[in-house]
Amino acid sequence: MKYIGAHVSTSGGVENAPLNAKKIGATAFGLFTKNQRQWKAKPLSAESIRKFKKNCADAGYSPDRILPHDSYLINLGHPEKTGLEKSRNAFIDEMQRCEQLGLMFLNFHPGSHLNKITEEACLARIAESINLALEQTSGVTAVIENTAGQGTNMGHRFEHLAAIIDRVEDKQRVGVCLDTCHTVSAGYDLITPAGYEQALAEFDAVVGFSYLKGVHLNDDKKALASRVDRHASLGEGTLGLDVFRRIMNDPRFDGMPLILETPDSDRWAEEIRMLKRMIES
Ligand SMILES: [Zn+2]
Ligand SMILES: [Zn+2]
Repeated sequence: MKYIGAHVSTSGGVENAPLNAKKIGATAFGLFTKNQRQWKAKPLSAESIRKFKKNCADAGYSPDRILPHDSYLINLGHPEKTGLEKSRNAFIDEMQRCEQLGLMFLNFHPGSHLNKITEEACLARIAESINLALEQTSGVTAVIENTAGQGTNMGHRFEHLAAIIDRVEDKQRVGVCLDTCHTVSAGYDLITPAGYEQALAEFDAVVGFSYLKGVHLNDDKKALASRVDRHASLGEGTLGLDVFRRIMNDPRFDGMPLILETPDSDRWAEEIRMLKRMIES
């Protein structure tokens, strides 16, 4: 079973996310539990939490179909003490918000070394940040997203994801999200049938499909191995539609949130219908 949705708006409160997802025919959704461009957020109100849970239950969005994303400001591998502490505190707050909402995942970008520490030191910091957050929360899995490798961002090689997981103490509560745009920008060729199989075999060998908790479905405005992160609507970028047809018919992507982060929200309903039609029964 494929759970297909989009990263929907929470304008007016988190409780609106499941309503917005339902409107576009989604069977899964992504959301921010706070403003993604600010450090501080008001705590979630009891009323908002209650409504969120009710709206999810009414529309059939069980926690395994929901993939929250953390703030873009957070850098869990920050080279400097102040930046690292600020990021760790904000991440713990986000994990706690997910816990309050009864959610099981929090998706995040691993972090950046900012040319001030080595890649290895950065990966070790990220893992330590995850360990600290897992100690202070329960029930929420930290889901590391692979990146395009723009600037000094870590996480564009499957080996980076594996190195972080390796240092996480509670392996039950760490996972991975593959973003199709980031994967191709990072240099893994999902575009051809052979490239797709090879990239996923490599992912399985290095990280392991057992850690895969979700997928972001995006086309890519940039070329293979561009190391630039620019999402495109499905069929309007380097990936083309065949990749998405393969994913929709690949049982390795069953039972997890498959979330659009494509730039034109007016097209999400249509993109979801198209993805559903691609499934060959
Ligand atoms: Zn992301
Ligand atoms: Zn993504």
